Amino acid sequence: MADYDYDVLIIGSGPGGYVAAIRAAQLGLKTACVEGRETLGGTCLNVGCIPSKAMLHASEYFDAAANGTMAMMGVEVTPKLNLPAMHAQRLDAVKQLTGGIAFLFKKNKVDWLKGYAKFTSADTVEVAGKSFRAKNIVIATGSSVTPLPGVTVDQKVVVDSTGALELPKVPKRMVVIGGGVIGLELGSVWRRLGAEVIVVEFLDQLLPGMDMDVRKEAAKIFKKQGMALRLGTKVTGVTVKGSKATLTLEPAAGGASETLEADCVLVSIGRRPNTEGLGLDAIGLAPNARGQIETDHDLRTSVPGVWAIGDVIPGPMLAHKAEDEGIAVAENIAGLTGIVNHAVIPGVVYTWPEFAGVGLTEDQAKELGEIKVGKFPMLANSRAKTNHEPDGFVKIIADAKTDRVLGVWCIASVAGTMIAEACIAMEFGATSEDIAYTSHAHPTHSEAIKEAAMAVTGKPIHI
Ligand code: FAD
Ligand code: NAD
Repeated sequence: MADYDYDVLIIGSGPGGYVAAIRAAQLGLKTACVEGRETLGGTCLNVGCIPSKAMLHASEYFDAAANGTMAMMGVEVTPKLNLPAMHAQRLDAVKQLTGGIAFLFKKNKVDWLKGYAKFTSADTVEVAGKSFRAKNIVIATGSSVTPLPGVTVDQKVVVDSTGALELPKVPKRMVVIGGGVIGLELGSVWRRLGAEVIVVEFLDQLLPGMDMDVRKEAAKIFKKQGMALRLGTKVTGVTVKGSKATLTLEPAAGGASETLEADCVLVSIGRRPNTEGLGLDAIGLAPNARGQIETDHDLRTSVPGVWAIGDVIPGPMLAHKAEDEGIAVAENIAGLTGIVNHAVIPGVVYTWPEFAGVGLTEDQAKELGEIKVGKFPMLANSRAKTNHEPDGFVKIIADAKTDRVLGVWCIASVAGTMIAEACIAMEFGATSEDIAYTSHAHPTHSEAIKEAAMAVTGKPIHI
């Protein structure tokens, strides 16, 4: 190692960075991870996946008590919202999990360097006034909220996802700008707790990137739950006076504008990679037109010894994708063969019900050739029916000639858990027949996957 401080230095401790650090240390490499935040775990553990799920889960309980679901099952309660307690359990989940990463760093002998890293050369970064030299440097700096031009996020009236996790009281009317994952998850939280929620989405359907049947069904389900949807509409401005916001809306196709009042506005129009202030100029690394750092299949950038993973590189901005790349990059640095199959990365929206998918949408699959589609409604699944969870379906898309599964889409209370089976099947190159002839425990929601697979060849049993 001579004059190197580390074999591997990772910039950022999100799911990409912390997983890469632990894996590198497990493989015997001297490893450091630089983090600018007070705590480890990145966006996901501090202000993303974990706190949002804490609020989603808690608000589901409140909603089940408030909307009559529990009473219908013979449990009569009158719920009273204790929002500070709900926030406290969110903060506790974050504290425990971020602390868990600090513990794992100690256990695996990963050095945590506190501060923001800046490249001074391709093998050296500066952190809090000190220089650190490493044979390999991994950029895992993640992403931040995309701002809406001309709109200031004050985290009081106009909030981003971080502000929307922490609202001190339930807004009367919340307008969500963007009907993507964040807008629907956090919009669901506040609707369940009593807010009137209006989602304004530029495109003509919610949830871009998902299968069209899922997107259409999502609109029906959220409307039924009481969310108002303004599809095909863009927000062109927001002005704030005191505690009220006025939004200007325009039809996406052009036409007359209108205004809408709100006492809380959530800006959730996407996220962009974090590359500013990283000193990329010093090493001759330029982000692409979308601000992302390009890598090859092995996660190497164009600069020798510099690697990149997670939200800062192209691909879906998802924690598990970042984690998979974290393991692969550490293995590649150690001289092993780290591989991520980017064709089989599931996506899940953790609303009620959950929306999940993996692989190709029906439209994408049709472009590649002839397909067969099998669909099975959750209404006909015995467990979902017994649990009073009628919404949703499973849809399996298979190649018409080879029967190989190309995509699986799922709306169900536990779709996020069910989709793992589809990922395994696709990783192993399964046909729909393989799934159809695999025993599934009864009564489970997962039986709907088996039945959808049986439906590919026209032979489901329960419909
Ligand atoms: P990040 O988690 O963003 O971590 C990067 C870290 O790098 C940050 O802590 C940052 O402080 C640090 N950093 C940046 N620059 C420097 C520097 N120069 N020096 C030192 N440190 C630096 N994904 C899912 O899969 N499931 C979910 O349920 C989910 N829910 C989400 C909910 C919300 C509200 C949000 C906002 C996101 C959610 N995501 C979810 C997305 C997920 O959080 C990201 O895909 C994931 O965190 C990306 O991991 P990463 O390691 O690439 O970067
Ligand atoms: P998104 O890309 O999912 O959705 C943004 C939406 O905003 C799009 O539908 C877009 O058409 C719309 N939009 C853009 N400009 C608009 C305007 N002016 N007016 C109206 N609509 C407009 O982005 P997000 O919801 O902010 O989420 C960001 C990222 O975080 C996503 O890439 C997602 O992968 C990740 N995330 C994942 C999860 C999860 O896995 N459950 C949860 C939260 C966030």
